[in-house]
Amino acid sequence: MTHYLDHAATSPPTREVLEAVWPYLVQVTANPASVHTPGQQAKEGLERARATAASALGCRPGEVVLTSGGTESDGLAVLGIAPAVVAARGRERHLVTTAVEHSAVLEPARELERRGWRVDVVGVDGEGRVDLPALSELVTERTALVSVMHANNEVGTVQPLAGVSQLCAERGVALHVDAVQSAGVLDLRDLWSLGAPAGGVAAVSVSAHKLGGLRGSGLLAVRSGTPLEPVALGGGQERGRRSGTVDVASAVGLATALSAAAARREHEVARLAGLRDRLVAGVLEVGSQAGVTVRLTGAAPGPERLPGHASFVLPGLSGEVVLAELDLAGVACSSGSACSADSDDASHVLLAMGLSDDAARTSVRATLGWSSTDADVDALLDALPTALTRSRL
Ligand code: PLP
Repeated sequence: MTHYLDHAATSPPTREVLEAVWPYLVQVTANPASVHTPGQQAKEGLERARATAASALGCRPGEVVLTSGGTESDGLAVLGIAPAVVAARGRERHLVTTAVEHSAVLEPARELERRGWRVDVVGVDGEGRVDLPALSELVTERTALVSVMHANNEVGTVQPLAGVSQLCAERGVALHVDAVQSAGVLDLRDLWSLGAPAGGVAAVSVSAHKLGGLRGSGLLAVRSGTPLEPVALGGGQERGRRSGTVDVASAVGLATALSAAAARREHEVARLAGLRDRLVAGVLEVGSQAGVTVRLTGAAPGPERLPGHASFVLPGLSGEVVLAELDLAGVACSSGSACSADSDDASHVLLAMGLSDDAARTSVRATLGWSSTDADVDALLDALPTALTRSRL
């Protein structure tokens, strides 16, 4: 039996999602853009899902653009909103983001740079928190878009978005927030309420598979009045903002996952934080008994850290060997970002936090979600002493 501690990479779909999705895979299967009765039935399901997702975010249904996931949502925000703001509001071709964003934001930002944009990348402190004074200096009334994530996937740090949104609002600048890791555990209605048509939070990315929905499904909430040029051109679905036949089943799954997470949030956050605290204390204890340095990375457990998130560096050990040994013992953890798992590069997040290249290559991340139990934490703590001993460099 595998003990799965990699929910930041993906969570298995919940039973309620699978049950909600099933009728839209086998019965209500028409194209929601078709005018016949089956098409209209699909459209009804789609619009119900959109309304449910909107209420979890605190936005209007018409502000929800359904996408194929977090990567597409982030790309649509950066490559769709920023140039549209330049065209509609006469702003400079200037984007500001942070050094710890997911590559789904950083790569589109690089694409803008290749197109001649000025892209400023703001640094972070030792816990991965964005440098607000530096951000404040870089964002001007002429800036087209700011993109800052809600919570980091590698180290779990929650960004001070009230401050970020406020400084954007003061300058009338649109702020995009990648909420892929926070959706489900943090209340996105609080995030959405930070913005206004004149500035601050203007767009929020969500991905279904991080909270028990299906992979390949997500949304970008775009505040009405925010200029957006579509990236996918075609049939003009999603009010011309994202072409392509909408996957109704995935949208139903996303809406179900969001509303179920909202209903359980208080209890689930306390449960995950309890498991995570025991995991962190246990890992540090095993490290000290084995005589090796184990350091928690990211913000200390508390409101500035995602409740189910634990991440460490193990200087002097091979993180890769630790992960392989844990895997052999049936415990699935990861080194950080699943998306860069194939790359030999040290984590750009840990480097931005000031860790050395060597230390940044020794990261181990254990992340918890809806299916996590005490037995998963016990399995990690039982397997860890051997894994640490075998991974000394
Ligand atoms: N943004 C963050 C912070 C993520 O953690 C991820 C996935 O790991 C993504 C974006 C990309 O989301 P998706 O896998 O749905 O494309």
